[in-house]
Amino acid sequence: TKESVKGFLRRNLFVLLTIAAVALGVILGFALRPHNLTFREIKYFSFPGELLMRMLQMLVLPLIVSSLVTGISSLDSKASGKMGMRAVVYYMVTTLIAVFIGIVIVMVIKPGKGHRDSPVASSGTIEPVQAADAFLDLIRNMFPPNLVEACFKQYKTIYKKTTYTKSVIVALNLTDPINTTEAALEANMSRVLQTIQETVEESIPASGSSNGVNALGLVVFSMCFGLVIGSMKQRGQALRDFFDCLNEAIMRLVAIIIWYAPVGILFLIAGKIVEMKNLAEVGGQLGMYTVSVIVGLLIHGLFVLPLLYFLVTRKNPCTFIAGLLQALITALGTSSSSATLPITFRCLEENNRVDKRVTRFVLPVGATINMDGTALYEAVAAIFIAQVNDMELNFGQILTISITATAASIGAAGIPQAGLVTMVIVLTSVGLPTEDITLIIAVDWFLDRLRTTTNVLGDSVGAGIVEHLSRHELQSQDVEVGNSVIEA
Ligand code: ASP
Repeated sequence: TKESVKGFLRRNLFVLLTIAAVALGVILGFALRPHNLTFREIKYFSFPGELLMRMLQMLVLPLIVSSLVTGISSLDSKASGKMGMRAVVYYMVTTLIAVFIGIVIVMVIKPGKGHRDSPVASSGTIEPVQAADAFLDLIRNMFPPNLVEACFKQYKTIYKKTTYTKSVIVALNLTDPINTTEAALEANMSRVLQTIQETVEESIPASGSSNGVNALGLVVFSMCFGLVIGSMKQRGQALRDFFDCLNEAIMRLVAIIIWYAPVGILFLIAGKIVEMKNLAEVGGQLGMYTVSVIVGLLIHGLFVLPLLYFLVTRKNPCTFIAGLLQALITALGTSSSSATLPITFRCLEENNRVDKRVTRFVLPVGATINMDGTALYEAVAAIFIAQVNDMELNFGQILTISITATAASIGAAGIPQAGLVTMVIVLTSVGLPTEDITLIIAVDWFLDRLRTTTNVLGDSVGAGIVEHLSRHELQSQDVEVGNSVIEA
């Protein structure tokens, strides 16, 4: 009918605009490269892109809270329990598959074999950050003592600091996490290297180190809050209405920002291309490492996840992924699954018609803890560094890497290059030198975009699969309470 044709055209208009933006961004970026713009000029040029990042990020916080509270409180506790279990099983299984693929690829390609390309200055004795500390931090972050603080702070304990660990964290904090640009990272990288050479022994108090929103803490709180409101029956109706209305208002803002998204993506991509180092120089071990990560991500994203989707739902994965294109391109442009979240919501709900009770529940959780691409990359990077150091890993160590890579991906925030910071956990768990992270920093901005895209795809496929598995509960709930709140 006329309405559906109109809707169809509109959906495709956005996808076409977004694809055109990517193409234009690439052309514009390469056209400007020979002009050797200064750092300041590049900053000005990328400004429209920076704005998009800010707009999306602005919506994330209220979106996470309102969607989780309404999503969970609109389900009875049994249904939400089952749905939650399914989501967690899906997250664990797919993350472990991703890690497995990464390990196999890096063992087959062996990118780090042979003499190391660039010797790294030793930074003295390294006191490992214990993996146990990282695990405890993960749990600590689930229970933020101050909700307001959790909106901008993530708790990070560093007991015994090494010059290097400190400098990485300091450096990455200096970079506005949402607006990391190649030039900014480069600037910070020199700071990292400088600090290494200074070998200052300094201790960082066990206090929060600002690393963006503590999404994990907000997710846990909102889930508990939603559960309680759900159990309050009529008494909780006012709060349910409030959060539902808030959620709808935020989604209307998303619908406006969507119009600006292609412009922002154009400049994000063009700006990145203008400032990136000459990629042709990335050869040898680093080149092979990059190839390994890309191959792994492609296998996981284009083969494993679609196959899994098909096997479980018996629906066409290509149509599903086509509906997600805009979110995937936004992930590529922003390198942040958290900033992409508003667009992911829209794609799943508007294009793929996934039940809102499912997206509201599983998407915020997925964007926070489910990072297939990051887990795969952490495993590849750790084994690559072992290869560069001529270190033979035994089965137990590889198992440790799988477990810590999974934990590191859960702990990583959905912001640009968060995975690079949590790498420290994986490396120290098997006694690899953390200063060797410098070996992979040069290509990380690029791999970050690809792994973020994989992360977003994994979250979205998860929503599709959980919806399918939970269809009986959803139906019986429809019969029981009607679907009025959700349909609003
Ligand atoms: N940038 C990634 C994300 O937002 C996290 C990472 O650094 O791996 O999903």
